[in-house]
Amino acid sequence: MNPYQLIDSLNSQNIFLRANNGKLVVDAPTGILTKELIKAIEINKGQIMEIIDIRFFLGDDLNLYENQNEAIKCWIEFLQERRLIESGQVPSNYTAIAHCNLCGDIYVPLEIAAYSNLQGCMWCSNRFKKMPIPKPNINAVVPTTRLELVKHR
Ligand SMILES: [Zn+2]
Repeated sequence: MNPYQLIDSLNSQNIFLRANNGKLVVDAPTGILTKELIKAIEINKGQIMEIIDIRFFLGDDLNLYENQNEAIKCWIEFLQERRLIESGQVPSNYTAIAHCNLCGDIYVPLEIAAYSNLQGCMWCSNRFKKMPIPKPNINAVVPTTRLELVKHR
């Protein structure tokens, strides 16, 4: 049983799963949760959280991605990246530096570094919300990245 089937099966038994502050909450009628169900939920917890996340984010649009696991995976990665940025942490693939005309120098994925002087960036929403934007140390950049950046300026 994959995590999607598990969630559907649980729902059909009046057991509902939701996320609260990064924790998985199980709403179930008293006495209905067997040891096997709890174990199944625990084993699939990571994927269940991702599914809850993506269902909340996409809503009914999730139906557009039926059987498109690669697209769903991209959305999940996007959400994970978003969450890191919103908490002021640099996603691991943000290995380059670019200049946003509104935020200043910022960490970006290497693909983005080719575009210098961005009109807006993925950190802009942090600026609007007065949340932290990690400031890169220009002198500490991996040399290849720096060369890549300079080449396009
Ligand atoms: Zn920006």
